[in-house]
Amino acid sequence: MKAVLSAERQSLLTTRGYSRRYFGRIATVLTAGAALPFYNERALAQLSMVRNMPPDAVKINANENPLGPCPEAVDAMYNVIKNGGRYMYESTYKLAETLGAVEGLKAGYEPEETYVEVFAGSSAPLHQAVLAFCSKERPFVKADPGYEAGERAAKFIGAKTVNVPLKPGTWDHDVKAMLAAAPNAGLFYICNPNNPTGTLTGKSDIEWLVANKPAGSVVMLDEAYIHISKNAVMSTDLVAKDKDVIVLRTFSKLYGMAGLRAGAALARPDLLEKIRPFSAGAMPITGMVGATASLKVKTLIPERRKYMANVREDTFDFLTAKNVEFIPSESNCFMINVKRPGKEFSAAMAAKKIYIGRSWPVWPNWVRVTVGTKEEMAKFKDAFAQTYNA
Ligand code: PLP
Repeated sequence: MKAVLSAERQSLLTTRGYSRRYFGRIATVLTAGAALPFYNERALAQLSMVRNMPPDAVKINANENPLGPCPEAVDAMYNVIKNGGRYMYESTYKLAETLGAVEGLKAGYEPEETYVEVFAGSSAPLHQAVLAFCSKERPFVKADPGYEAGERAAKFIGAKTVNVPLKPGTWDHDVKAMLAAAPNAGLFYICNPNNPTGTLTGKSDIEWLVANKPAGSVVMLDEAYIHISKNAVMSTDLVAKDKDVIVLRTFSKLYGMAGLRAGAALARPDLLEKIRPFSAGAMPITGMVGATASLKVKTLIPERRKYMANVREDTFDFLTAKNVEFIPSESNCFMINVKRPGKEFSAAMAAKKIYIGRSWPVWPNWVRVTVGTKEEMAKFKDAFAQTYNA
């Protein structure tokens, strides 16, 4: 089956400098979305997937949450499975409504009114926003090192990605350099806290970018890890003020539901309307009810944040005592300078059944490590001491 773009959409795209061949490509996206490598995350999965990992491995490579879903979410999901023969669209709206109440944003059934659009995770709205707002003329701008997912979507539509180094020392986004490097960007992507460094970008810098960016562009705040950070400030207020901002939410990180899939884009209704047509299909009802149940547990964020901070700070104390260079992070991941090619170091750790994260091309001697449980990080510390000194 071949998807056909409406005349209205074609003329919109023509005004943005797209060719007929491009229409064909986008039509393919609409038809075969889930099978595309950038869309279904196969490409990213390859970066963090390890084949034949032993059952007793310590898996701290993919920024997952070893605590998994909270008991309330598990109960809700267990109870809904028997309804799996139904689409249960209402579970998606229930999540939008509950999240809207938590965020102080209007959420409802009418697309022209809602500020909350639910997705199966935050990858989909990230990719879709790149497709919607970037083009050959309007690049995608991100930090380096940064989360690369949007870059893949940009490549697919022939949009340029402009990588701007994080500010040395503080490792926050250099918003002025980002704007200078791409004054006509379609999407400015700010990951706060940043993946992989776990560092924060200040609210005043975000507000400066929103105030100074070119017309027609959007600032995306990927706040995947924000619940884990004590000092990060959310940007939901900018959404409520109708700015050109999209905030991404996910239940994959603090909420421990990466494999269950729930997330959302928070934005002005007309911005959501632009990203909505790039995907289709119902949401997983398990993810929907699990996320809704999680939002109702008021102690969840402070308890998990404290647990993760304690384990992370203990690991930092260990690294400091060993004189190992690392970047202080407010997230569930951090970067360590292993002073040799990160790939080699990771392989040596894997031989001890400790699976740490990868390196970024711009920092080849640094590796990303995810904060695991207290017990997992005790094993990490043992293996690290042996490997680092070897
Ligand atoms: N954004 C960032 C910064 C991430 O690190 C990830 C996953 O690791 C995602 C988005 C995508 O997560 P999900 O699709 O599970 O919400």
